[in-house]
Amino acid sequence: MSTLEIRNLHVSVETDSAEGREILRGVDLTIRRGETHAIMGPNGSGKSTLAYSIAGHPKYTITEGTVTLDGVDVLAQSVDERARAGIFLAMQYPVEVPGVSVSNFLRSSVTAVRGEAPKLRTWVKEVRESMATLEMDPAFAERSVNEGFSGGEKKRHEILQMALLKPKIAILDETDSGLDVDALRIVSAGIESVRSAGQTGILLITHYTRILRYVKPEFVHVMAGGRIVDSGGPELAAVLEDSGYDRYVKTTEPAG
Ligand code: ADP
Ligand code: MG
Ligand code: MG
Repeated sequence: MSTLEIRNLHVSVETDSAEGREILRGVDLTIRRGETHAIMGPNGSGKSTLAYSIAGHPKYTITEGTVTLDGVDVLAQSVDERARAGIFLAMQYPVEVPGVSVSNFLRSSVTAVRGEAPKLRTWVKEVRESMATLEMDPAFAERSVNEGFSGGEKKRHEILQMALLKPKIAILDETDSGLDVDALRIVSAGIESVRSAGQTGILLITHYTRILRYVKPEFVHVMAGGRIVDSGGPELAAVLEDSGYDRYVKTTEPAG
């Protein structure tokens, strides 16, 4: 059973001014393989910072705390080592990779993470099945990564990567943002199929509750002001849907 453990994580971001600004102010979270956790919270609360810090983005400096995967110090690893260890991040704003086809990109990523190239015959079948789950046209595989992709296509491509990489821990940063109802349903079905395989711990970061109608987390956490300020089960998402984040924001902002 793989476990990602985040303890007392403090993170600062490099800014134009010399001094870094502290964004995460002591985050504790444990995610086991097979579990789905949702992190919800207002804009600017530090959700993406948490995602990038776990994945190893160089802009974010860890000033205190630990992140381990099965006891191994993740923070000491390079971005590539983290990916090979089984950590996957679907970014809120995926980058374009002009001139590299989806098909080649996926095969290279899987080869890098698995340490060997997948066998061609099973690979073609795997890709075809995952694309079918995500209702993607096979011709999509020949397009350049994220170049001219619609919002929905970018998100489907991220979920396709996750389905093929079969990570131990997958962090999905606002994979639901900007999707219409049909795209949300399809992307959710893709997440559900990875989830139901039970091999991946999923951290689903979202601002809105609507994706939680399709993907059902066992654990829901609220992030505000760089901390997890509340945790519960799915019932917490229902409360947030009704009352929003106001009470958390009021209690975490400094007075005056
Ligand atoms: P969320 O994903 O919850 O909306 P973020 O983690 O993106 O929150 O941002 C948290 C805070 O950190 C915000 O105030 C944001 O402006 C700041 N921040 C995040 N990344 C950077 C960055 N690269 N440079 C400067 N400020 C940043
Ligand atoms: Mg944001
Ligand atoms: Mg964000």
